[in-house]
Amino acid sequence: MMEKLTEKISLRQHIKNIKNLYKIINEIDKNYFKISMITHIANVAAAYIALWLSSYVLDGLAQKKGARELSEVTVITLAIIFLIRFVASTVWNYAEARRDRIYNIYSSNIEMKILDMDYSEIDSPKVKGLRDKIDKDTNWGWGINTPVFITNSILFDIVNIFASIVLAYPIVKIVSHTGRYSVLFSFVMIILIAIVTDKLRLHYNKMLKEYQFFEVDEKDREEMVNFAYDFIYGREYTYANTKDIKIYNGYDLLKRYTIEPFFSKKHRELDNKGVFSMGMEAAMGDFTMGVVEAGAYLVVILAALSGKISAGNVVVFVGSLQKLLTGVTHICTALVALAFEAKKQISTLELIGLKDEMYKGKLPVEKRSDNEYKIEFKNVYFKYPGSDEYALKNFSMELNIGEKLAIVGMNGSGKTTMIKLLCRLYDVEKGEILLNGVDIRKFDQREYRRLFSVVFQDFNILPFTLKQNVAADMEGDNEKIEDCLEKAGLKTRLDKLDNGLDTYIGKSYDESGVEFSGGEMQKIAIARAIYKEAPFVLLDEPTAALDPIAEYEIYSNFDRMVKDKTAIYISHRLSSCRFCKNIAVFDEGEIVQFGTHEELLNDTDGKYYELWNAQAQYYI
Ligand code: ADP
Repeated sequence: MMEKLTEKISLRQHIKNIKNLYKIINEIDKNYFKISMITHIANVAAAYIALWLSSYVLDGLAQKKGARELSEVTVITLAIIFLIRFVASTVWNYAEARRDRIYNIYSSNIEMKILDMDYSEIDSPKVKGLRDKIDKDTNWGWGINTPVFITNSILFDIVNIFASIVLAYPIVKIVSHTGRYSVLFSFVMIILIAIVTDKLRLHYNKMLKEYQFFEVDEKDREEMVNFAYDFIYGREYTYANTKDIKIYNGYDLLKRYTIEPFFSKKHRELDNKGVFSMGMEAAMGDFTMGVVEAGAYLVVILAALSGKISAGNVVVFVGSLQKLLTGVTHICTALVALAFEAKKQISTLELIGLKDEMYKGKLPVEKRSDNEYKIEFKNVYFKYPGSDEYALKNFSMELNIGEKLAIVGMNGSGKTTMIKLLCRLYDVEKGEILLNGVDIRKFDQREYRRLFSVVFQDFNILPFTLKQNVAADMEGDNEKIEDCLEKAGLKTRLDKLDNGLDTYIGKSYDESGVEFSGGEMQKIAIARAIYKEAPFVLLDEPTAALDPIAEYEIYSNFDRMVKDKTAIYISHRLSSCRFCKNIAVFDEGEIVQFGTHEELLNDTDGKYYELWNAQAQYYI
């Protein structure tokens, strides 16, 4: 949801936000602003040297200086200006490269934090909300760049203002001696007019804020526009949905939510009012500047006419004054913008600063070559964050060493949830899960997870090489990787690949990458699980994307693949579970039946019998 940005926050809070902002930038690159400052100083110096040159030439002509002297000074000065500008732009390019690095590191901080946080948190409504907010706060991708740009403009303004005061001061001193009362009178008048016009400017600025899209309370705008913006900036959404939109002709429906809101009458009216206010705000600002400038001209011209100052002095004074005025107005706007941008970093800081909520035990997991690890679920209750329904309730189960257990059950009966709890992606709400009699929360999480090889239903393969994916590392044992790929049924495909194990998966990282089919990807995921050689192998519908022959191969290889390891095999195809000695039947978050295929089938009132008969037509 769009946040109301006109909400008041205290000056102290603004200052705190700005401090935090610079703290992050400083942590990434403590020299960036020092380097960019060199450019600002050089640029301001070049501008003032040019101004000085004009005044020198003007006074030189009036004093009838020789052409030679004038042209010599001009050429030398221009050469100096050129040199300074050259240094400025070189340093600026260097600073830009560093800014780009700041941007990249800052943005990847967010992603790295998400990868690093508890899985249960990533899914939580709180983190989802924060991520949405970050997307909007980081200007859909500009991120830290905007406040860095603003800071640079402020630094430039500071140098500029400083230089203008230094240059104009001696002239002001002379002028103020010429006619104190007229100077004082003009000064007071200028200030009065400036105050009035600036009040008007602020009035229009406030109106602008009310009309401008982002500043408006979401109630005033159709909520659809929010979706429209998500749509426009979230390209992935479009890519992911193109197939369905085409098949179901959902184009008109989508248009209703994306383009039409921008053409609504209310939206246009607000826009028009916003544009008017913006124009008035700018006009009032210019008017204030104009009045101040005119006053200054008047005073200095009077002084020049009375012969107190030279024409060259007038040029320097007027030039400095203009720079001073633009500097001051600019810096005021920029400071407001900076406060606004610094506020937008709060969501990122909040995310990066999130503390893991899961208890992190320190107990090492005993390394056993005999794989004697026993798991027990004891009266476990669990519901997902933000959900009211229990996904598992009063759930008890033992996994005996070396056992091959099949799990069947309808969609939503809690099979995957059980796997997620077992790997400690989530913690139980009530009850406990024990490893060799010890609550799994007490173990070091990384060590504990080393015990599991899992092929998730929605497994993830990275766009790196086949080898790196199977080994889940930069390096791996080629022979072993090939063996695992063979066991997973991908040998023939591997032999056909020009780059063999070094083939990139997909084209997102490397142009020469190969697009694998859904089934082939699943085989890669299975190979990765075999390669890990963990004592527990958990396969959650590992054959969903496989054709019947590949599926058959996996089953017949299953024993060879998992050997003496403890294995859980989830499938909704009951026929594929028969090779497991024991079958657990899940229903609504509980185990309702347990036994061999024959035993379960004998219970004609049981869930297994019902499921079996529902699928029987496919087996005959
Ligand atoms: P199965 O694997 O047996 O199909 P799941 O374990 O995935 O079932 O789901 C069990 C229940 O938990 C379902 O009611 C499902 O809607 C719910 N559920 C699953 N994942 C989430 C989640 N991330 N957030 C909220 N509810 C979820």
